[in-house]
Amino acid sequence: MVFCRIKSLHGGGLHAAYRIKFVVAIVCGMLTTQTAEVIFLGTGTSVGVPVIGCECPVCQSDDARDNRTRCSIVVEIPATDKSEGGTLLIDTPPDLRMQLLREKIPLVHSILFTHEHADHIFGLDDVRLFPFRLGAPVPLFCEAKVEERIRHSFDYAFMNRKPTHPGATPQLVFHSIDCENDFEVLGTTVTPIRLKHGPHFEVLGFRIGDFAYCTDTNEVPDSSLAKLQGVKTLVLGALRHETHPTHFNVEEAIELGRKVGAEKTLLTHCGHNLGYAETMADLPDGVELAYDGLRLNATI
Ligand SMILES: [Zn+2]
Ligand SMILES: [Zn+2]
Ligand SMILES: [Zn+2]
Repeated sequence: MVFCRIKSLHGGGLHAAYRIKFVVAIVCGMLTTQTAEVIFLGTGTSVGVPVIGCECPVCQSDDARDNRTRCSIVVEIPATDKSEGGTLLIDTPPDLRMQLLREKIPLVHSILFTHEHADHIFGLDDVRLFPFRLGAPVPLFCEAKVEERIRHSFDYAFMNRKPTHPGATPQLVFHSIDCENDFEVLGTTVTPIRLKHGPHFEVLGFRIGDFAYCTDTNEVPDSSLAKLQGVKTLVLGALRHETHPTHFNVEEAIELGRKVGAEKTLLTHCGHNLGYAETMADLPDGVELAYDGLRLNATI
């Protein structure tokens, strides 16, 4: 797996740094864009929707868009003359196996992690098959604290003991994300974005081209807002209408989408208070609820 860091873009000079990068790309005749397909595997909060044992109208709804598995997306990175591209997964929720089967995604080439909460990592064992097809361990890109949690929670994958048979345990290889630096995955540049998830916990959002994915947050620092400038499609976690100590509510997410100036803001990580049809009817232009199976294109 080739892992090359590109030049650091430090906080203060960020706008200028992006402008310089853009101009340099034009001057060098290197400005080529591609279309990547984004697939929403899961769009529900940590307990999913329907909630076990709940008889509320949303949990009893016949609308498939009210059936929300735990949060993750796939970005299909197209091949170029320099890279084969591939399927990039963000987070491995407990529903991963059913999500990949549902969307007919046969293989994941690399995985990014936003943070280490159970609803974002506990499907990791489902990638056990992929090393057979990749011919190599599955690359995981995450911060050190996420690596520590994964090594602890999936300790059987990291024992210094020869497995009894191939595929007995997940074969994984870590690549550390430094949130100040862009990095390359599957031939495309990913910008990590620092987000706060309540008063004591930090997570990452990711920007790829004109698309950004920022779930599980209730505060986006100013330096991170700068990194979201120019994004066309912004995905934000929005749990419910009432405020919450660790997640944006719908109104806060709408406000942030306006602040960023995104053409489209898509809300994800939704709870059972947000019925699809009734919530969509009240959302302003340019803001929509994501749903499991939603597909859209991004320019990268
Ligand atoms: Zn979550
Ligand atoms: Zn319910
Ligand atoms: Zn979380």
